[in-house]
Amino acid sequence: MNADKHPIVIAHRGASGYLPEHTLAAKALAHAMGADFLEQDVVLSRDGVAIVLHDIHLDSTTDVAQRFPGRARSDGRFYAIDFDLHEIRQLRLHERTHISGEHCGNAVYPLRFPAAHALFHIPTLQEEIEMLAGLDRSRDCRTGLYIELKSPNWHRKQGLDLAAAVLAVLDTTGYSERPGQVFLQCFDDRTLQQLKQALKTPLPMIQLIGENGWGEDSAVDYEFLRTPAGLDYIAGYAQGIGPHLPHIYLGKSASGEARLSPLVEHAQARGLAVHPYTFRRDELPAGIASFEELLDIFVCMAGVDGLFTDFPDIVVDYLRRAGAAA
Ligand code: CA
Repeated sequence: MNADKHPIVIAHRGASGYLPEHTLAAKALAHAMGADFLEQDVVLSRDGVAIVLHDIHLDSTTDVAQRFPGRARSDGRFYAIDFDLHEIRQLRLHERTHISGEHCGNAVYPLRFPAAHALFHIPTLQEEIEMLAGLDRSRDCRTGLYIELKSPNWHRKQGLDLAAAVLAVLDTTGYSERPGQVFLQCFDDRTLQQLKQALKTPLPMIQLIGENGWGEDSAVDYEFLRTPAGLDYIAGYAQGIGPHLPHIYLGKSASGEARLSPLVEHAQARGLAVHPYTFRRDELPAGIASFEELLDIFVCMAGVDGLFTDFPDIVVDYLRRAGAAA
């Protein structure tokens, strides 16, 4: 690890290991824990308001099915884009639960905040940014935004332009010209190119890399993106990549050594920062004995430039100790 420039800590959906994801409470906690950037996943309401929500659906984290029965589509799901903001404001938000299968109704992460306590609400993007800016002032610090545009092509098919809506909020809140304080991330390459080339934002772009089988809202081939030619392509419009942990950590050798892919080296050689997701204390990859070991592999061995984590306090503390030892 480079002692001058420690990897950035990105609070994944806020301090979501401790409070329900994308609540203002989880964001305030992450701010207090010293995260460098706080993540916002953004979708649009029916009246075109940018709200902070991970899914295009409302049913995994809110009481929408009880409050608005009969408003599901034919697939049984409740879509944020079918509700106006004043309706979304009536929903109570809780820890993420399974909505089908044998664990239906149970918390996805059983040791986290009790899912039965629906104490929270969905914030708009503008409200969240205003709270963070306020905390930056009252705590005399500078925290960054790390905004993901969720399913932009799907939004367009529903008649709404997500990229334009996000940029409008950044304009309103004074963040649209702060390239050191805002990242824009997306699984769709075309959307990032549109932001840069057509909408001419100066903000840095992060190309998220998933698996082709996940059904992400993009025609791009993620296996290609991880190749040297794919990274050359990304370097034409983005400043970094957000790969999945298994794209870098390949498991252990017979002698117990961590095996790494060349992805970090290949990306950094092209000037691309590498911010993998997601570092969770309660969901360790196979063969990893502790959260500390996971961080050792990615920070000390792989040399990543940032980490998306549900547990920002632990990563901040780890990096502080690693920096002190360097
Ligand atoms: Ca995200």
